[in-house]
Amino acid sequence: MQATDTHQEVKPLDQVWNKRPLIISGPCSAETEQQVMETAQRLAATNKVDVYRAGIWKPRTRPGNFEGIGTKGLPWLQQAKKTTGLLTAVEVATSKQLQDALHFDVDIVWLGARTTVNPFSVQEIADALRGVDVPVLIKNPINPDLELWIGAVERVAKAGIKNIGLIHRGFSSYGNSEYRNAPMWHLAIEMKRRYPELMMINDPSHICGRRDILQEVAQKAIDLDYDGLIVESHIDPDNAWSDAKQQITPERLSEMLENIIWRKEDVQSEEYHNALEKLRNQINHLDDELMQILGQRMKVAEKIGQFKKENNITILQTNRWNEILERAFRKGEKLGLSKEFITRYFDAVHLESINHQTRVLNS
Ligand code: PEP
Ligand code: MN
Repeated sequence: MQATDTHQEVKPLDQVWNKRPLIISGPCSAETEQQVMETAQRLAATNKVDVYRAGIWKPRTRPGNFEGIGTKGLPWLQQAKKTTGLLTAVEVATSKQLQDALHFDVDIVWLGARTTVNPFSVQEIADALRGVDVPVLIKNPINPDLELWIGAVERVAKAGIKNIGLIHRGFSSYGNSEYRNAPMWHLAIEMKRRYPELMMINDPSHICGRRDILQEVAQKAIDLDYDGLIVESHIDPDNAWSDAKQQITPERLSEMLENIIWRKEDVQSEEYHNALEKLRNQINHLDDELMQILGQRMKVAEKIGQFKKENNITILQTNRWNEILERAFRKGEKLGLSKEFITRYFDAVHLESINHQTRVLNS
């Protein structure tokens, strides 16, 4: 093929790694040489993509599905990089896969959700990373366990890897129908709080599992100040060998990125800062009041605890609890508070209340 002989300049890795927003895209799986090349060329033509991803080894939930083209696909990626100038990224799950990927000049590797979940696998890769200078992206584990995610970051950091990034791809939860993997944004936000220096990339493809809600999830991530997106793309999404429902064409990706409202975390204007400052002060003030009131509420709960102790009554009284929730739903609705929030808020308040009462009862 003539076109593959034209080489594009590849941008320096550091420059790409530090670009914001960082956009990574490519097929869930490398399938054929033609598919890998054409996807890369059409992505490069959008001028919006920084890194070309492709799964070479695919961890599949059930046996019998396509499990990746394997090492044979790595030269295709190498060729795609030469032709388009796009840096490449692949998932590695074993030390052998890491070595193969590096041998074929893969620029960035990532640990998949099914790897982060397993400290043995993470440690094996971390050991193989020693002395290697390659950026590593770490996906959240499939289950909503922040400690596992943190553990993986620690293992990779201890191996001497300087450039580490995080990928939020959502969490598996039984019976969830809206998303393939529930985003549980609060976990990613907490991870960002603990590691403010690590980049956080959102993977709307694996969160959504379907095309129609990719845009809104990507927008939400950008609104939450994520550093970039990793989105699966394919030249013929419906006929992809894996994750067909969530992949989009390179052209559709381009449209999606164009439709995103990119918010700046910091705007220089003084007027903006003053207005924001005032609103933030209001929030602080309201938060202080909420804490005061919660403190008072717990004091009342303790009095009830005392009363229950003197009269030998159990702490948990289901009827009363249902009554509290029903009341809150009715009132909350008028205030624009969702049922989901009210349930979660009252669950937390109730638990704290029970703890206070237990202390009184045992004193
Ligand atoms: C993937 O990126 O194709 C993949 C397998 O993702 P995850 O590890 O998030 O399931
Ligand atoms: Mn996939």
